Amino acid sequence: MQVYNTLTKKVEKFVPIDENEVKLYCCGPTVYDFVHIGNVRTFIFYDIMRRTLLEDGFKVKQVINLTDVDDKTIKNSKLRGMNLDEFTKKYIEYFFEDIDKVNIKRADVYPRATENIEQMKAIVLGLIERGYAYTAEDGIYYSISKFKDYGKLSGAKVGGGVSRIKNDEYDKENATDFALWKNWTDDDGDVYWDDNLPKGRPGWHIECSAMSLRYLGETLDIHSGGVDLIFPHHENEIAQSEAYNDKKFVNYWAHPEHLLVDGKKMAKSLHNFFTLRDLEKRGFDPMSFRLMMLDAHYRSKLDFTFEALKKYEKTLEDIEIALKRLEKLPKTGEMEVKVVGSAGSELEEFKTAMNKDFDTHSALLHFFKIINLINEKANKGEINLMEYEEMTAAIQKMNLFVGILKDYTVPEDISKLADERKSLRLNGKWNEADKKRNVIKEAGFKIIDLPNSDYVIIKDRKYGR
Ligand code: AMP
Ligand code: ZN
Repeated sequence: MQVYNTLTKKVEKFVPIDENEVKLYCCGPTVYDFVHIGNVRTFIFYDIMRRTLLEDGFKVKQVINLTDVDDKTIKNSKLRGMNLDEFTKKYIEYFFEDIDKVNIKRADVYPRATENIEQMKAIVLGLIERGYAYTAEDGIYYSISKFKDYGKLSGAKVGGGVSRIKNDEYDKENATDFALWKNWTDDDGDVYWDDNLPKGRPGWHIECSAMSLRYLGETLDIHSGGVDLIFPHHENEIAQSEAYNDKKFVNYWAHPEHLLVDGKKMAKSLHNFFTLRDLEKRGFDPMSFRLMMLDAHYRSKLDFTFEALKKYEKTLEDIEIALKRLEKLPKTGEMEVKVVGSAGSELEEFKTAMNKDFDTHSALLHFFKIINLINEKANKGEINLMEYEEMTAAIQKMNLFVGILKDYTVPEDISKLADERKSLRLNGKWNEADKKRNVIKEAGFKIIDLPNSDYVIIKDRKYGR
């Protein structure tokens, strides 16, 4: 497998520290609101990395943290008049509901920052002891000039002077000493910890250094987060972890690009974002969004439009129809000695693309080639049994990598209604047949009519055919 590494700016061969446990750490959501679809693009990429590693035969431990204490969570819980814990718990629940909607497989651990405060304190104390951190009037700061490699990931330059910043977010031009621990102020209300360190709370960056160390150890194989996290978040994580552990922190840094709206980053602060729930309210299936994301390379910016999403909703429906037709086709011939036919070689090329820096766009072209082959067979009205077996095996394997098809069952009463509709139509009772179709639609399904009075039933999507 090959991966693009932000640290070296090269595509490199992936060699894990231990094949029996690839250590994969991904920066998770800040749980103060619903995740927006830009965040979801990044979370889908985390899922693709994990699936690809697993399908390649590696064992994987994936950790995705939940940032449940920081400037934003505190501010927003206060605005809502809620206690921080009850406030963030709600958004954690919504986060899991949302990732399920786009078929993201669960990571192994989802640690919450507030459950790892002791680990954070230990690192802060260790950094003071080692001379990398100092106490100021409003908190404890990391002295970036003490860490000789500061800037190695992002290219940020250490300026002169001793300016420092308490906020979690700032830009590269202002590389400066940053807060490891923030002394309590009125704004923090009842959010503070006060033994061993001054009454206060952790800075955002120390949270990930602490949780990755606790759950994965000193050196990670892959660390990921959206490109906006390269600076300052990941640069600061390196400074903290390498100064504390005296070990290389991360071997491969993977940074997916942003989802844009009208050329600008989709962000809550710009008020230009949509959630998956917004898409659903407009009648879209979140799985169409997943397909749309995977049809682009993760290292390219991608502009979100509803027009494009409609196209993917139709594509998803076409895929489902092809697969349902395949199931119905009469199978001819016998199972003989297995040879690699076209579906088998498409699968091989698909895997090659996935292993070239997770090139889902190129991989999907091979998936679509099989769908085209299926449609050809369906139009012919039969398929050779061996070809059928090979195609279904290839589609299933591909889906383990990309997860674009999510199983759902058509209830039996719906199938029965569809059958009754068919008989009514054969007897020319069109009105009654249409009534059945409407009942089926109300239940969330639709009938796609095929030649010779045949049909398939699929999920009803407003923007399908
Ligand atoms: P946050 O909840 O803001 O901490 O972000 C969670 C993840 O989403 C991080 O990895 C961010 O880098 C990523 N992210 C934020 N905005 C976007 C965007 N517009 N497109 C893609 N990823 C994003
Ligand atoms: Zn992080």
